[in-house]
This record gives sequence, structure tokens and C-alpha cells, in this order.
Amino acid sequence: MENILILPGDGIGPEVMGEVTRIIDWFGTHKGFEVSIDHDLVGGCAYDAHGAAISDAAMEKALAADAVLLGAVGGPQWDNVDYAARPEAGLLRLRADLELFANLRPAICFSALAEASSLKRDLVEGLDILIVRELTGGVYFGEPRGITDLGNGQRRGVNTQVYETYEIERITRVAADIAMKRTKKLASSEKRNVMESGQLWFEEVNRVIAADYPEIELQHVLADNCAMQLVRQPKQYDVLVTDNLFGDILSDVAAMLTGSLGMLPSASLGAPDAATGRARALYEPVHGSAPDIAGQGKANPIASIMSFAMALKYTFDRGADADLLERAVMQVLDKGFRTGDIMQPDMQLVGTSAMGDAVLQALDELGS
Ligand code: NAD
Repeated sequence: MENILILPGDGIGPEVMGEVTRIIDWFGTHKGFEVSIDHDLVGGCAYDAHGAAISDAAMEKALAADAVLLGAVGGPQWDNVDYAARPEAGLLRLRADLELFANLRPAICFSALAEASSLKRDLVEGLDILIVRELTGGVYFGEPRGITDLGNGQRRGVNTQVYETYEIERITRVAADIAMKRTKKLASSEKRNVMESGQLWFEEVNRVIAADYPEIELQHVLADNCAMQLVRQPKQYDVLVTDNLFGDILSDVAAMLTGSLGMLPSASLGAPDAATGRARALYEPVHGSAPDIAGQGKANPIASIMSFAMALKYTFDRGADADLLERAVMQVLDKGFRTGDIMQPDMQLVGTSAMGDAVLQALDELGS
């Protein structure tokens, strides 16, 4: 029996996660996916209930779960809450306590939505790349950091880009293991031309791939060139591994190739457990809590549904079920169903639950 913790969060989180729950049930009924589902609070709703963005009890459940599925956190009503108790602090604690060091951000362009991209259709149609971003090291966490007063009317701001061998090695292994299940093509991005940490990144990635992944075709690309290549010819990449800072930027560039925020899933993974081989994992849509449309039944649940597809693939080793779910979403889009955020002329405008209904119907047609 698998064990999933759902943390719907705030705003549209509960609405989109409601649809995900129905999809999980479908896989239970039709595909023998035996799962026990628990729910808890995270974000502003947890602060209102417990005075903290995630309670210790919810954290314990997260640590015990095979996978955590999260909706979104935040909203204007918590803007003045102390930084340590802010809704986002719940996310940060989850990432830290689960030791999630690898962030997986796929950029998939469904042909039905290719017009929504800011690039020409032929550049993005069929795009399917995966950016693997290091999440717990680099310049966002390095010491020393801070702002000091130099006493002469000047101030100095410092952040430190720092990586150690083990951090580069483990993120490289996550990316390489995934690349082995895809096209066996891996690109790695840094700026070794101007940064020693980039030179180390380059050398360690080379070492790990040469030692343990001889079948992988490895390519290195400087991060600035990579940003350019992603908008020039994005389909040249399959899996791309990079550090925290460059990954932050490059994954947002890649995201926008696909058009809409309501379509983008993500996963964050920790180290594989020595006994089970299974990594701690958090799956969540890239979008936020969308307070402007919360409670109106308008939210697009596809990013959350696609995040569950990632859980099927990466945690539960059910690649065929993940493919089925992706094909169901594709069919729904091909049939012309659209939530407001991806609406196009002559298409059928639907709300959150009708989009969930359409995906379930497509699953019935494709997979029963
Ligand atoms: P947002 O992603 O919530 O919304 C940006 C725009 O996209 C809005 O117009 C929204 O209506 C639309 N949108 C987003 N997701 C959608 C969906 N599934 N379906 C249809 N439309 C969708 O970003 P924001 O407005 O900058 O932030 C709102 C709140 O969310 C803030 O409190 C922010 O801190 C928080 N936030 C949380 C996360 C997270 O939980 N991981 C991420 C980003 C922002």
C-alpha cells in the first residue's frame, strides 16, 4: 500500500487538489494503484489554525509519506505575518526537512497549445525537456552573505556561490538516472569561463558520467549561451542539469516556452533511501495560489494533475500510468476543453471540476 500526503494549501490549492484526488481514485479503481491518502494543512491556513505555516504533526506525516502532493500557498491576507510564519515558510520547511535537493521542472508543449507560446509553433510543438535544478546549495545559501555598512556612505552586499563535490555528484546522478530512462542525452550548464565553482561543476559532472554512465551523451553549455539556445532552438535539449541560481532562471525561461502557468508541474526529490531505493518527494504545480480567481471554480487543475503524473513516474515507478495520464490530458486539450487561463477562440470554456471530469472521461476512453 502506497502512502500519499496531500497538502492542498491556500487559494486555488484545495480546488485543484480536489481534482487530483479524483484522478488518484481512478488509478486505484482501474489500475490497482493501492494508496492510502491523508490530508493536512500548509501555508496560510496552517498559520490560522496553528500559528505556524506547517505543524510538527503535518511534518511528521510528510516525512513518513512516499510522496507529498502540494497545491499552493499564500495570499494577501497573510502579507503582514512574520517572515518565519509566512505561508512560504511551510514550503521552505518541507524542502529543508525532507532534504529535497533536486528540483525537476519539465517543459512540455502540447501541440493543442503551441499557439500560446511566445515562440513560433515549429520551434515548440512537441517540446519535452526536463530541467534538473540543484535546490539546496549555491549562491542562495552560501556564506558569507549579507549587507555591511562600509562607513563611508557606501554599503557592500555579498553572496557566495559555493558547491562541494557531494552536492554536484548527487544532482548529477539524479539527472543521469532520468536521462537513462529518456534519450540518454544530458546537458550540463554552468559558467566555468568566469567562475571556479563552475569549473568544479564541469569537472565533477564529467567524472560522474565517465565513471558510471558511459552510455550518456554529455554536453556542456555555458549558462548564458544556454538561455539563448533555449529560446533559439529548445528542442535540442532533453535533460538539462544545472545549479540553483542558473536553474532558477533557465527553468523559468523554459516554462514560458510552453505558454501557461496553469500547465506546469514540478517535483522535488531527496536522496534515495538506502533500503528501498525510493527518494523523498514533493510534487507541486509551479503556479501560486491565484487569489484573484480562488473560490470561483475557474482554476486550471492540469499543472497539479501533471504533477501527480510525475509522482506516478518518479516515486511509484508506474511509467505506463504516467504516460496514460499525460495522453488523457493531451486528448482533453485536443478536444478543445480550456480553462480561462488557456482559452482560445472557438474552444469550450470549462471550470476546474469540468476539466477534471474531461480528464477522467479521457482516462476511461484510453485506459479502462
Ligand atoms: P500565481 O501563480 O498565484 O498567479 C499568477 C496569475 O496566474 C494569476 O492571474 C492567476 O489567476 C493565474 N493562475 C495561476 N495559476 C493558475 C491556474 N492553475 N489556473 C488559472 N490561472 C492561474 O502568482 P502570484 O499572483 O504572483 O501569487 C499569488 C500568491 O501565491 C502569493 O501569495 C504568492 O506568494 C503565492 N505563490 C505561491 C507559490 C507556491 O505555492 N509554490 C508559487 C508562487 C506564488
